[in-house]
Amino acid sequence: MKRNLTCIVCPMGCSIEVELDGANVLSVTGNTCKRGAEYAKNECTNPKRTVTSTVRCENGEIISVKTDRAIPKDKMQECMKLINNARPCTPIAIGDIILSDVFGSNVVATQHSAAHNS
Ligand code: SF4
Repeated sequence: MKRNLTCIVCPMGCSIEVELDGANVLSVTGNTCKRGAEYAKNECTNPKRTVTSTVRCENGEIISVKTDRAIPKDKMQECMKLINNARPCTPIAIGDIILSDVFGSNVVATQHSAAHNS
């Protein structure tokens, strides 16, 4: 089986073809660099994504958050639910952990809570 992917690791967006035998990667072609090959292999065997979202603090402020690592793509919905149910206490600084150990990642603040005080 063949899968065609567009590499999203850098803006070049190389078209990559992956030849698979079930879950085994037989070959990767079209990538310009090693990072593309790695991306294509992972995308076909264990796709992961960084989740970005917002969370409502206990005082009603909304702050931006993201996972500090990519998590398994099939866990994104569950991760979003956890984020939606979280009600962190302010003040919150950039980099503060909002949720820890979420599918191998932490959910961290990417925007200071004071930015929404206006
Ligand atoms: S294969 Fe390499 S050069 Fe091409 S898009 Fe991916 S990271 Fe960029």
